[in-house]
Amino acid sequence: METAVEVLNRVWGYAGFRGEQAEIIDHVSNGGDALVLMPTGGGKSLCYQIPALVRPGVAVVISPLIALMQDQVDALRTLGVRAGFLNSTQDPDERRLVEYAFRNGEIDLLYVAPERVSTRATQDLFDGAKISLFAIDEAHCVSQWGHDFRPDYLQLSMLHERWPDVPRIALTATATMATRTEIATRLNLGDARHFTASFDRPNIQYRIVAKNSPQRQLLDLLKTEHRGDAGIVYCLSRASVEKTAEFLKENGIPALPYHAGLDAFTRATNQSRFLREEGLVMVATIAFGMGIDKPDVRFVAHLDLPKSVEGYYQETGRAGRDGLPSTAWLAYGLQDVVQQRRLIDTSEGDFAHRRNMSAHLDAMLALCETVECRRGQILAYFGEQPDGKCGNCDTCLQPPEAWDGTVAAQKLLSTVLRLQRERGQKFGAGQSIDILLGKKTDKVTQFRHDQLKVFGIGADLREAEWRGVVRQLLAQGLLAVEGDYGTLVLTDRSASVLRGDATVMMRRESERAAAKASRSKS
Ligand code: ADP
Ligand code: ZN
Repeated sequence: METAVEVLNRVWGYAGFRGEQAEIIDHVSNGGDALVLMPTGGGKSLCYQIPALVRPGVAVVISPLIALMQDQVDALRTLGVRAGFLNSTQDPDERRLVEYAFRNGEIDLLYVAPERVSTRATQDLFDGAKISLFAIDEAHCVSQWGHDFRPDYLQLSMLHERWPDVPRIALTATATMATRTEIATRLNLGDARHFTASFDRPNIQYRIVAKNSPQRQLLDLLKTEHRGDAGIVYCLSRASVEKTAEFLKENGIPALPYHAGLDAFTRATNQSRFLREEGLVMVATIAFGMGIDKPDVRFVAHLDLPKSVEGYYQETGRAGRDGLPSTAWLAYGLQDVVQQRRLIDTSEGDFAHRRNMSAHLDAMLALCETVECRRGQILAYFGEQPDGKCGNCDTCLQPPEAWDGTVAAQKLLSTVLRLQRERGQKFGAGQSIDILLGKKTDKVTQFRHDQLKVFGIGADLREAEWRGVVRQLLAQGLLAVEGDYGTLVLTDRSASVLRGDATVMMRRESERAAAKASRSKS
């Protein structure tokens, strides 16, 4: 019989396996269960495609990426692999043909949408064929905390109960310890062997800058470093997707919008243009991207703060799958924190769910405000122990100055405290900063905030610096925001700073440093 590496040579024309591929393929081909955690571009597909060819019977691949099934199957057929798919886009005749081929073992791989698996018809179909293995792609979709959650994935634990002898391989590029455990539990993969590749993407340069005029900053990045390059720009809302795409087009950058509010045809057209044409910029919500296999995405830019480090990592991971230098660029500001907190406060979930979202946001904020290597922080988040500085992120290339912000923190926190204690009022960052700067705005006069003892005590810092102070206090959990207007409130931990028991180190706001870092690169 042909060995795995022979199949790799003959069918794919590749010389050898990468990383743990050989071990995974060996394990699954011999009937073992596996949970595979590998970054985007790591080569997960071969881990189930080769066992599918080596083992007798048909492999069933469960994938949520219905829009891409046709492409995936076409790609396999081009290589001479017998593959088919079943999903809602087919008419009954097409489906019957595939079912026939499946039953008669005329295909080696069958791709199915998760919602089909729990139907009676599909189970009967599966019972009538010899299944070689189940591959559960994008396995993190089973995680209820993640933004890719698919309820249908919860049903997949049934595969093991019903077909206990068929090996299963679950694959994902998302891999915090929590998600990992959740996948293993929910998919009933307790005894599966875990294969975890390093999540480092050395060719991606991570940069996080303070947001002031995001569209301009983005345009500047594209013009100075990514002229003519394909890339993805992520925005939080559909409206800002539309506006940003328009703005880029007006400024001579070929851009397309993508969000769930566009009709299916426009979405499909824009997606396939992005994949096939060169140098297009896709401006999108996070609805765009899962499973997008475009090797030469040169940059991923975020105009709004992602909700978690996992999300950030997944989205930035779409850059540079070809291994060439690529940029992950994020502009982030105080307003992002206010907005995300509000989203969490008003979210549907129960207390545990909100607390979980909150913890994810905190980790993301900590990444934004770190003075350490960004890559190091990301990898540490995924449970790896990176060695030293990466030399390819903004903090490594242009180390930010850390400064002792304890006094500034005390000034800001006492402003919040006094407003609340003396006046019974809560205000947002803007008003607190105006008070510190000693600005007699209408709102300051109206509320007689110029009579507060803290009025004008912060004139030593610029407004942008104060915004940085607020952001960093929020990131460090020394201050919190609440409500629709993002009013500032103290936390349990504020008192220790006010008492002088804690030192607060901060990252120096430096637009110039950021600009210099980007110039030195090109
Ligand atoms: P993932 O699903 O983990 O994001 P893919 O399976 O799509 O990654 O693989 C990424 C790219 O790497 C694909 O173009 C694939 O053909 C290529 N690839 C995977 N394994 C190998 C290998 N052993 N040798 C050469 N190229 C490989
Ligand atoms: Zn670094």
